Amino acid sequence: MTRTFTYSGSPAHIVFGNGASTEVGTWIEKLGCKRALVLSTPHQAADGEALAKRLGPLAAGTFSGAAMHTPVEVTEAAMSKAQEVKADCVVALGGGSTTGLGKAIAYRTDLPQIVIPTTYAGSEVTPILGQTENGEKTTVRDAKILPEVVIYDPELTIGLPVAMSVTSGLNAMAHAAEALYARDRNPISTLMATEGLRALKAALPVLIKEPKNLDARGDALYGAWLCGTVLGTVGMALHHKICHTLGGSFDMPHAETHAVMLPHTIGFNAVAVPDLLKPVADIFGGSAGGGLHDFAKSVSAPLTLKELGLKQSDLDRAAEIATKNPYWNPRPFDRAAIRALLQDAWEGRRPQ
Ligand code: NAD
Repeated sequence: MTRTFTYSGSPAHIVFGNGASTEVGTWIEKLGCKRALVLSTPHQAADGEALAKRLGPLAAGTFSGAAMHTPVEVTEAAMSKAQEVKADCVVALGGGSTTGLGKAIAYRTDLPQIVIPTTYAGSEVTPILGQTENGEKTTVRDAKILPEVVIYDPELTIGLPVAMSVTSGLNAMAHAAEALYARDRNPISTLMATEGLRALKAALPVLIKEPKNLDARGDALYGAWLCGTVLGTVGMALHHKICHTLGGSFDMPHAETHAVMLPHTIGFNAVAVPDLLKPVADIFGGSAGGGLHDFAKSVSAPLTLKELGLKQSDLDRAAEIATKNPYWNPRPFDRAAIRALLQDAWEGRRPQ
């Protein structure tokens, strides 16, 4: 086989281990910083405060207003706080929303970031920032956006509710599945994607029975790191385009929408690139789409767009928006094909 590829390794420091979050202070100092602004959502404000307390003088303050889709007005409020307390770095403790706020601050100020992820979204290892202004979501990619240090501590994910663990895990798997057929894939991204899928496939069935199983939490977070890394390094296709459409134009919940769409988009593309999606079929059994559907069902994930609140009357418009400025995709499609795919996902029909 002739191999042709380009590979660039990420410059980020990845620290992984039970209890690793106790090293935040050391990493603040290693970055040459002295005054961290600790970020969280309102829901995780107490965790943010506790972290700041543990950091003592290395924490200059906290901001607990992070929100889904990184609204620009929230970023502006956090920037004022950063200025007021003379912060020289940010520490984001939470899921993709909190990471997004840290990235938005870094994009504007180039302050160094430390992220302590508590979901499996994977944003912490990508140089991509999605933000919303006047209800419109835009995405930017910039080296300044990639966090300098990521500390993965499975102990901090013990409290992630089971339903969120499942949908967040499937959200991560979607990055890996699409990375397998990305035009700019390379041998390392394929290895990482396959291993990420394997780790999450092993972890989620254990987590739904034993949410506090630290080994399974560790496997899931390890899988999330791998899946997030490939999201940051190779291009995404139809699956991510449809999920961005449903999230951006229909306000559908992020992780849940990925979870529902995954078997359908991967089943659709498996027709064109069965060899590239063979790892998915091997890991989940049967066909790529059917195997993912059976797995999602076995871990009690949502299976229909209907149950997420999308109206059947919205499907025509969703198909139109998703096909207006399409991302590259391994299988050509038209509006009718995407409308049919959305109908299947709305009803939760098992892909072949
Ligand atoms: P989230 O960060 O919005 O978290 C959802 C809720 O769960 C929040 O209230 C949060 O505080 C809470 N939570 C998080 N971890 C918890 C834990 N361990 N225990 C208890 N509660 C916890 O959700 P998410 O799915 O992680 O992130 C979604 C956002 O991330 C979206 O805005 C999405 O666009 C963005 N995202 C961006 C990228 C990127 O590369 N730019 C990648 C993936 C996701």
